[in-house]
Amino acid sequence: MSQRRVAVAVAVLLLISAGVAGAGLPTVTHDGRPYVELKRVAAAHGDAELEASPAGTRARLRVPGHVVTFTRNWAQILVNDTPLVLDAPVRVKRGVWLVPESFVGRVLPGLAPGVAVVTAQAGPGAPAPAVTLAELRFRSYPSFTRVVVETSGLLAYRIERQGPKEARIRLIGLAARAQAAEIRDGFVDEVRLERAGVDALLRVVFEGTAGTTRTSTLTDPHRLVLEFGRPTETGPRQEELMPLRTIVLDAGHGGHDPGAVGPTGLTEKGLVLDVTRRVARLAEEQLGVRVLLTRDADYFVSLADRTSLANRARADLFVSIHANAGRQTRADGVETYFLSSEATDSEARQVAALENGVVPLEGPPGRGGATKDIVKTILWDLAQSEFQTESSRLAEIVHDSMTQTLRIGNRGVKQAELYVLGGAAMPAILIEIGFVTNPKAERRLKDASYRDEIARAIVAGLAEYKRNWDQRKRAARAPSLVTKRR
Ligand SMILES: [Zn+2]
Repeated sequence: MSQRRVAVAVAVLLLISAGVAGAGLPTVTHDGRPYVELKRVAAAHGDAELEASPAGTRARLRVPGHVVTFTRNWAQILVNDTPLVLDAPVRVKRGVWLVPESFVGRVLPGLAPGVAVVTAQAGPGAPAPAVTLAELRFRSYPSFTRVVVETSGLLAYRIERQGPKEARIRLIGLAARAQAAEIRDGFVDEVRLERAGVDALLRVVFEGTAGTTRTSTLTDPHRLVLEFGRPTETGPRQEELMPLRTIVLDAGHGGHDPGAVGPTGLTEKGLVLDVTRRVARLAEEQLGVRVLLTRDADYFVSLADRTSLANRARADLFVSIHANAGRQTRADGVETYFLSSEATDSEARQVAALENGVVPLEGPPGRGGATKDIVKTILWDLAQSEFQTESSRLAEIVHDSMTQTLRIGNRGVKQAELYVLGGAAMPAILIEIGFVTNPKAERRLKDASYRDEIARAIVAGLAEYKRNWDQRKRAARAPSLVTKRR
């Protein structure tokens, strides 16, 4: 309960303090953005206590009544237990923890000692924020249904009711017309937005019984993300303890979208389909897993349909296979991506732009101009916190396997805003197996035995990840055995 009140309070405080300058702390520039040293933030605050080891993954800042948790390379922080996304990721440079300056200007003021967080809820005396609804959207996943309320500004909300048949969320001061949408995904029946004085009331009607509700707020653009989890059977979820069973392999592009094209005409769509088929055959033989392909011939599949297939099949992993295009013909090597709001570097950003480029071909006519924004919001509804750690683990293992066995340059594991990975409700990576635009690489990529080598290297990586996964699941099942032995 208190968690929810804090969430409301943080949202409101952000609104109040937006635009307030940092507390005169010196900034350093990183990736072209202003950052502040976390230890200076703590020192300037007075009552703050900081736990931040140079080699650690997480840092904690305690101020009276609040704990803020930072994760290395993540834009998402936790204020008490409420996720909040900053405009840039937290970085650690030479052992020094750096936070985006926006944390000092926009989040910290709400955590000052003596600030009565709860009283910040909008009341009769509070200025009425003119927040309007930009879009209400939904997405169904195997284990939860997501409702996203995108607004023109920061939105305060309050969960008023969480019954077995219905959840009611008051969206404070939100200007929006009444509307209703049928979801009928076997869990959520419908979502209605109603007027309630100056507020709007979001009503989520369940078909059966409600499960858990998780909320988070995201910025740029402002969104309230509500995730309604399906009720689970009693005890630990069987699914969560199962060995790795299903992998979806996604051969990039296809049909009218050729992807990258080499100097002598090798197309990415043809190359990656062949490699993907080889990976599929080997993975089924060697790993004993079920392998599904998003396409098994030369036809067009939208990016959203690729991950929808994986979600419907309740796949454990999603692996997208692509080949690169370089501005310079000498560019060569393998790189492996997982999803992040922040591209590793300008090259990674360029790869994302190329791989996302198909999106304008997909959307309904007339919305093309807004494509970039659509990509951004769909991606960040996900927050990706659930799968980002696993995706990076998968990326590291598969990438290592490839660079160790193939005679090819290592361009590293990278992060970028890759739309195709955004819809996956499971760990997901995208592999760029080589540059078709490099004449030497193109020649090698045409060779069937080299394609086999690539496939074997990918499967060896998947095998290692599966061993690692199965071991962890066994360990999770083990406690009962341990107590018996004692
Ligand atoms: Zn591609």
